[in-house]
This record gives sequence, structure tokens and C-alpha cells, in this order.
Amino acid sequence: MCDETTADQETQEPALLHVAPPGHSRAGHRAFGWCSRCSGREVWEELLAWRQRDNEALDETKTADRAGYPSLEAEAVNADG
Ligand SMILES: [Zn+2]
Repeated sequence: MCDETTADQETQEPALLHVAPPGHSRAGHRAFGWCSRCSGREVWEELLAWRQRDNEALDETKTADRAGYPSLEAEAVNADG
């Protein structure tokens, strides 16, 4: 089955997929060139890389990823009650 959103309109061939070694993450290899299944890498490294990538995409790198305590949401609830 061919996904129309990724198919080449002239050839109806599927768009080229990013590849990774068997058992590895295609998304990880596409985004970083490595994944947590690569030799010498661990899951926490890939998790950190995804978090940093998302914070960079939203231009939130100047703010710590870990939310403060109490969170802004908790402060809003306490202010109301
Ligand atoms: Zn890998």
C-alpha cells in the first residue's frame, strides 16, 4: 500500500525512507545520525537529545527543561483557591 502523501506524483513510488541499521530507530538516525541502539549510546542520551531538539525548535533553550516546583499550573490553582 502506498501513502499518497509521501508518494512521488510522477512515478507513484514511495518517497525514500530514511534508513537505519536493523533494529535501530529511523527517527533517531534521521535527526541525529545515531540512536540509543547504536554501540556506545544509552537510552538517556537519546531522550536528552530529543528534549534538547524540541526545546530548540520552540526557542526555549534558555529555560531549564525540568519544570520548577511548584509548577506554574499549581501556582495558578493555588491563587484561585
Ligand atoms: Zn542506531
